Amino acid sequence: MQQEQLSAYWMPFTANRQFKQAPRLIAKAQGMHYYDSQDRPILDGTAGLWCCNAGHNRTAIVEAIQQQAATLDYAPSFQMGHLGAFEAAQALVSIAPEGLTRAFFANSGSEAVDSALKIALAYQRAKGEPSRTRLIGRELGYHGVGFGGISVGGLVNNRRGFGHGLSGVDHLSHNKGHAGRFVKGQASEGAERADDLLAQIQLHGAENIAAVIVEPVQGSAGVIVPPQGYLQRLRQICDEHGIVLIFDEVITGFGRIGAPFAAQRFGVTPDMITCAKGLTSGTVPMGAVLVNDAIHDTLVQGPEGQIELFHGYTYSGHPLAAAAAKASLALYQDEALFDHAREMEGYWQEALHSLRDLDSGIVDIRNFGLMGAVEFAPEGGRRAYAVFEHAFHKEDLLLRASGDFLVMSPPLILQRSDVDAIIERLSRAIHAQR
Ligand code: PMP
Repeated sequence: MQQEQLSAYWMPFTANRQFKQAPRLIAKAQGMHYYDSQDRPILDGTAGLWCCNAGHNRTAIVEAIQQQAATLDYAPSFQMGHLGAFEAAQALVSIAPEGLTRAFFANSGSEAVDSALKIALAYQRAKGEPSRTRLIGRELGYHGVGFGGISVGGLVNNRRGFGHGLSGVDHLSHNKGHAGRFVKGQASEGAERADDLLAQIQLHGAENIAAVIVEPVQGSAGVIVPPQGYLQRLRQICDEHGIVLIFDEVITGFGRIGAPFAAQRFGVTPDMITCAKGLTSGTVPMGAVLVNDAIHDTLVQGPEGQIELFHGYTYSGHPLAAAAAKASLALYQDEALFDHAREMEGYWQEALHSLRDLDSGIVDIRNFGLMGAVEFAPEGGRRAYAVFEHAFHKEDLLLRASGDFLVMSPPLILQRSDVDAIIERLSRAIHAQR
């Protein structure tokens, strides 16, 4: 690659100057693997960025996108449409928790989050409670990089240096490490942390709070799993106080935790769900907000002819994204991939936790569904990054390093032999980077 090309692209969330010294480019992908420009397979331990749930370059999805591109490239998304967007919405709500019957389309997780926050505010106003403008997120939460998302998000680096963000935002405490370390799946203790919300209500008054947004399992912060009963308790408090509950399922949606959405897995139905990533198995950018009847119906009560939600994107329900979503959702169903993910979960959990005694520098291992995190003793991310680099360059395994931990979220098509390969290669990388 020429130097001019390298320097023209300002890559997101990347130490660009470092990357320019020795880039290893991904050239193609198939199934569980990426391939570099030398055609060497790299085992995908992260489904891209938690998104390629069906694995890579699946024929049914590829053909649907090709066919759509050759038929209808684009149609305006406001006040007119194309059939594909309606079909994609229907397919999406058909796997959503009961009562979430409307899908609003965006183009990313960040846009879905900002859309959901705006819908929550508009809803409170429409139901005659305009003072409900405060938003509540959770420490360590990741909700994308829009101003709404970084405000309700609780990852300091995403926020620091970008001004004040939205006003009137508070955060519930996270539950990382509170139930001890090396907990497999959900901890049995700790649901009472949801009572933080009661403290916020006491402080600000429920009549001023619009919505609470949480990731059911916090992904980007390193697979932080809610204690048993935590989400149920949040739901109960929101119900008692007229607060909208939003689950950000950008990562946990589409089988990642062995069900269409975490809402079903945990048996807690929020008022809205934000999703993206696996919606199109990562093939074409698309995000969505799933909305319940109460919110939708309240917002459409205005005088006939009035625009109900003054919000939308040029590319909402884009034909290529809609085609990719329909094909992905059909593939998930045809191959029963969500059930497969659930079946693989036990094997994945045991394999991951077998790393515990490998190295005293490993201070925690967390997992839920087909998500996993290995955390190292704090040292500014040095070790996690070294293991990530070693795994990528020497073991042909793609992981994700963030701070002092590594995260994994393999494509849902993985078999036991893939789990074994991930764990063996990761073990060697950890060993090599002591
Ligand atoms: N919400 C969550 C929970 C996410 O994990 C992410 C991305 N990792 C986003 C929102 C933002 O999605 P995007 O990068 O597509 O804007």
